[in-house]
Amino acid sequence: MTSLANLPLLRHSLQGKVTLGYYAVAAIILVASLFFIGELRALEARVVLGERVTDLFDTVLEIRRFERNYFLHHQDADRRENDRYIGIARELLRVNRPDFLAIAPKVRLEELQALLGEYQEKMSALAGTLGNQNQVALLEPRIRALGKQVVSITGDMSSSERRQIQASLASFRTLLIVVIFCMALLVVVIGRILSQRVVRPLKEMEASVAAISANRRETLAAPSDDREIISVIQAFNHMLKELDIRQKSLMRSERLVSLGTMLSGVAHELNNPLSNISTSCQILQEEVDENDAATQKMYLQQIDQQTERARNIVRSLLDFSREKPFTKESVSLRHLVQQTVRFVRGEVSAKSVVQLDIPEDLIVEADEQRLQQVFVNLIRNALEGLEPGGRIMITARCMCVDGPPEGTALGSGCEDRGEVVEISIEDNGPGIPPDILPRIFDPFFTTKDVGHGMGLGLFVVYEIVDEHGGCIAVESEPGQGASFRIRLPKSRTGEA
Ligand code: ADP
Repeated sequence: MTSLANLPLLRHSLQGKVTLGYYAVAAIILVASLFFIGELRALEARVVLGERVTDLFDTVLEIRRFERNYFLHHQDADRRENDRYIGIARELLRVNRPDFLAIAPKVRLEELQALLGEYQEKMSALAGTLGNQNQVALLEPRIRALGKQVVSITGDMSSSERRQIQASLASFRTLLIVVIFCMALLVVVIGRILSQRVVRPLKEMEASVAAISANRRETLAAPSDDREIISVIQAFNHMLKELDIRQKSLMRSERLVSLGTMLSGVAHELNNPLSNISTSCQILQEEVDENDAATQKMYLQQIDQQTERARNIVRSLLDFSREKPFTKESVSLRHLVQQTVRFVRGEVSAKSVVQLDIPEDLIVEADEQRLQQVFVNLIRNALEGLEPGGRIMITARCMCVDGPPEGTALGSGCEDRGEVVEISIEDNGPGIPPDILPRIFDPFFTTKDVGHGMGLGLFVVYEIVDEHGGCIAVESEPGQGASFRIRLPKSRTGEA
């Protein structure tokens, strides 16, 4: 009762399904074994019956042997033996009559019993008429005829039984083959059903995991209601959630690093408007009585303009630091890159050159803050490796592509064809050794000393480019510098 009550529970678990499968196979084997035991019993009964028929036949042959001896030697001992065997045969016939009915019809058995009776009678009569040659001549042929008939009937019974045993053995063999075949088929079918039930959800999970890693899905859906699968899915989804939280926190810390880079640039940038404001203020203070109202107004306008410039610089930093949801807008690429270069340059040797070749009117549809982060990371990496006098070239243009870019390329838009905006950031620094080139976009991969790099810069770049449906590729030869190329889908509204 308990196991039956537990059945639905068993069905909703992989362990339950496998157990059910085992039970089903065990039940099939049990039923087949019971069936064969029954069949073997029937066969055994047939063989025992065959032995009894053989006994009867042997007894009849003995009767005939002593009959022949008696006719030859007229010894009373032979007649007595003959009589004893007739008794045995009649007793065998009587005792086994219900079983013998299976191999000979009732009339035939009655005929045999009657023939044996007549035979015994005639033999007794012959013993009483010994010496009377006429009687002997009359009885002897009849006795021989009766003996022959008895031998013929029991012989028929014996061979019929043998045939039946042979037929039973043949059908048993056929049955054995059929049952073994059916059992094997059933076991295979059960095995297939079981493996489908177990393997199908695992295959679906495999496809879902692939979809998750290709960013086409966010969580795993439960492909079956099995307990084990559900708990794996729950654990996996929990892990995804945790990973997402950690990735966001890593992104935040990477942004903080970029913010640090930009801060020094901003401080540097703020110096100019502040010193302009300071100069204008000093002039105003020193020459307050000498200047006419128009000159004073001009200085005040300059102070206002420089304050606005400083405010804009601070605003861009604030914009960069604020956490915002991903939103695409039309971004002037040249303006964004110029601003980023200005901010990043703060911590760079003044002898390095950053050249821009970006059309004034090139607009991309992008999340400005994130795209700026991409430029900060790439320009900072390039600047970090540069010797004094090194050069960074940033170019961008709209172009038509018909395949992925050269080099190690990553991102959902690498296979895109048609018009794209391609931004290239090339430097003539130390370059990237070929053995580490395929790993530079991996999270936490860095060749820098502890405390100098977290190894998240290019990972974040890749994430942002991928989020924009773009593609990033890198080509580098050691000693020849590195070239990063980013492809972004072309703005629908912007002009290229
Ligand atoms: P981090 O800058 O913290 O090391 P990144 O992900 O930004 O992490 O860069 C990973 C590695 O890629 C760097 O440690 C560096 O070895 C290599 N790399 C990236 N950009 C360049 C470049 N322009 N020139 C040479 N090596 C680079």
